[in-house]
Amino acid sequence: MTSKKIAVIGGGFTGLVSAYRLAEAGHKVTLYEFHNDLGGLVRGFELKNGQNIERAYHFIYKTDNYIIDLTKELGLDDKLHFHQSSIAAFYGGKIYNLVTPLDLLRFSPIPFIDRIRTGFVGLYLQNVKNWEKLTEVTAYDWLTKWNGPRATKVIWEPLLKGKFHKYYDQVTMAWLWTRIKVRQDSKDKGEQTEKLGYFDGGFEVIVAELEKRLKKRGAVIKLNTGVNKLDYKSGKPVITDSNGKHTKFDGVISTVPSPVFGQMVEGNSQAKTSYINKLKSIDYLAAVTMIISTKQKISDYYWHQIHDEDSPFLVMLSLTALTQNTDPYDGNNIYYVGDYIPHDDELFKMSEEQIIKRWYTGIDKLFPDFDPAQVDEVKVFKFGNAQHIVNVGYEAKRPSYKTPLPFTYLANFSQIYPQDRGTNYAVRDGQDVADMLLKELDKQHIA
Ligand SMILES: Cc1cc2nc3c(=O)[nH]c(=O)nc-3n(C[C@H](O)[C@H](O)[C@H](O)COP(=O)(O)OP(=O)(O)OC[C@H]3O[C@@H](n4cnc5c(N)ncnc54)[C@H](O)[C@@H]3O)c2cc1C
Repeated sequence: MTSKKIAVIGGGFTGLVSAYRLAEAGHKVTLYEFHNDLGGLVRGFELKNGQNIERAYHFIYKTDNYIIDLTKELGLDDKLHFHQSSIAAFYGGKIYNLVTPLDLLRFSPIPFIDRIRTGFVGLYLQNVKNWEKLTEVTAYDWLTKWNGPRATKVIWEPLLKGKFHKYYDQVTMAWLWTRIKVRQDSKDKGEQTEKLGYFDGGFEVIVAELEKRLKKRGAVIKLNTGVNKLDYKSGKPVITDSNGKHTKFDGVISTVPSPVFGQMVEGNSQAKTSYINKLKSIDYLAAVTMIISTKQKISDYYWHQIHDEDSPFLVMLSLTALTQNTDPYDGNNIYYVGDYIPHDDELFKMSEEQIIKRWYTGIDKLFPDFDPAQVDEVKVFKFGNAQHIVNVGYEAKRPSYKTPLPFTYLANFSQIYPQDRGTNYAVRDGQDVADMLLKELDKQHIA
């Protein structure tokens, strides 16, 4: 096949991997990214000492083979290390261990009989093979039926609400099952908690290496350049970018969220109203994160899951408690606080100062010794489309990779199902759609 002119829209993990595969195969790639740097949701920022760190907390599981293989291919495997996770559960102002079966038996906020039920249900879920059945029921109903209403209210409801907010009772049990399964599969034999992978230098090392290789292969990376519209002239895609420039391509891979893609292609004769409506019917939540670099070791645990409904955030975690290494941060401890919210939630509209104030109060409730005076740096970030709602019947909404538009493919995390979205599947899908587009272009060439 002769070299083709291909556009990739979005410079997150999916777009970067697609662009890399296409450039590697000898095609002329143009990557459009709305922001001023690459990485999408994994985008980092520099701490005062120049160390890059993710704006949103990220790690990978031991079973995340697609990203692990890419890491090896890029020669970065010496930078990836797996660490034993540690988890604390907060309920009613107290910290509990809630990891082992014995921890569960000791978890006094729920009656003893419900602890036994929850333990058996957990064991059952780890061994489920036929997950398809779980797509037909919400996690909330399934857990209420099998764990009982009291255990569901105390253990699961706050976590589902934290992750899915007002949609907490709509999410399919298949989604929750994959979360439980991947954590189980990521444990070493005999270990109670999973092992989680993090890169020396953060996920930025992968982003930077892909960017370097793309440039070496002649790809054009257009930062600060959004794609506003996709039209079709003589069967070929034409991009209108945010500078008003029109450019014709042989093929397009779009990695933007589904409703954003819907807006881009709306009005084209091939994009029927039913297709556009399907793309727009997928609900997304926003996310807010706060990163603190502090001299103080606030907690020994990596992950703090909060079962109190009045908590102002979903999770607090310590990157340095996971990696057991404060060297990259000049000896400071790194904490993330995060929450998922609808776009119209007041938190999403608050200023950085207001969020810091609210969340410092939240940390103080969990750790009364928390001393803001020891914080060297604090940053807040907002993400517009951070998590989609995987409700019962989601399979019918899930968009296909091949779109009805000629030589145009869509790959974003709303297609990942039933697994939770993540960088691992972004790598898989980025590669797969690049292959699909190349096959279609090749067929045309043969014809
Ligand atoms: C709080 C949080 C924690 C997470 N934790 C983990 C974790 O621990 N492990 C893990 O593996 N995954 C995690 N994830 C998920 C992971 O970040 C995503 O699955 C992955 O980054 C998705 O990559 P993507 O390229 O598909 O999408 P994105 O990263 O969203 O990239 C899409 C890109 O398209 C750009 N774009 C949008 N519109 C336009 C336009 N019109 N024109 C041009 N460009 C456009 C955006 O700016 C963005 O750069 C987490 C996500 C969040 C929000």
